[in-house]
Amino acid sequence: MSSAAISVHGVTARVPAKINLELVVGPRRADGFHHLATVFQAVGLHDDVTVEAADDWGITVNGPYADLVPVDDTNLAMQAARLLASEASIDVPVHITIDKDIPVAGGMAGGSADAAGALLACDALWGVGSSKAALEDLAAELGSDVPFALLGGTAMGSGRGDQLAPVLGRGRYHWVLAFSDVGLSTPKVYAECDRLRANRRVPEPAPSAAMMTALRSGDAASLGRALSNDLQPAAFSLQPRLEEVLRAGMDHGALGGIVSGSGPTVAFLVSDTEQGLDLAVALTASGSAPAVERAVGPVRGAHLITAPSGPSGPSGPRASVGSTGHQTGHTGPAGLRSS
Ligand code: ATP
Repeated sequence: MSSAAISVHGVTARVPAKINLELVVGPRRADGFHHLATVFQAVGLHDDVTVEAADDWGITVNGPYADLVPVDDTNLAMQAARLLASEASIDVPVHITIDKDIPVAGGMAGGSADAAGALLACDALWGVGSSKAALEDLAAELGSDVPFALLGGTAMGSGRGDQLAPVLGRGRYHWVLAFSDVGLSTPKVYAECDRLRANRRVPEPAPSAAMMTALRSGDAASLGRALSNDLQPAAFSLQPRLEEVLRAGMDHGALGGIVSGSGPTVAFLVSDTEQGLDLAVALTASGSAPAVERAVGPVRGAHLITAPSGPSGPSGPRASVGSTGHQTGHTGPAGLRSS
């Protein structure tokens, strides 16, 4: 590809974290993955992924979790960029900068989000013009949670969680996220889940009627009651403290609480901003969780927040493309994380 078509400035994609409102884990498949029936919701806690044409491939990670993220070819954003370059026969290296706010190994699919952001941003930077379907295929190759990071909103996931169907639910939900300072490895949590269920027949997974009804009604209290996660016992087994965090949040009046994905983040559903603030303050003051943040969901999936510029696009970095969908709540009081 000729460098004349390459954007001069960087292109930035904003990508959301996810929580699983429901995660039904079926039997382990021959390929080692599990059949899943899950309901994802994208929430307003984001990473920003910026790509710029460079002499060589490289990656920089900024933010409170930077030390935990690899800056070599194992980084999922780098893998995504290289995969698109290879598919589209691009030989222009990029430098990737990730401004990271999504906790690492927190069960919120931060790495997958970065991969989705890199796909979208590189596609724009290089002027590839991939169709939505083509990007979704590449996303599925990169990991089970990557397609949802592109899609956003609320969606049912089947297969490995990568076959998506949007859920046309109602409601805007307020979440309080309690982070742990020790991550949980997703493969280890699945292995523990298998161990705990070793002597049980595991049925094919199916979404619950209660979850679908709750989402259709938009009623937060019903959604709170319908939250469920088959990986939760495994996450509790590996990090027993999480059970106390969940109990503390429920004792403080949350409508529902759940370990997000493979954990260790615990997500609490609350009725409104005020209850979210109260719960965030209570969890922080009780010392139950080292960091607490509020977020609203659903929010949109990966989207550009800078237009490609230079020869073929508008000029200037950070030109906004549509709404940012950035709805992270700032918890305010000292000691609470805010982004
Ligand atoms: P999931 O919810 O999909 O299971 P997670 O939120 O638990 O994911 P991630 O934050 O995606 O976990 O990271 C898991 C591991 O992937 C990290 O421990 C890290 O070594 C590696 N990794 C690779 N690329 C990235 C990235 N861009 N951001 C974060 N972690 C990354």
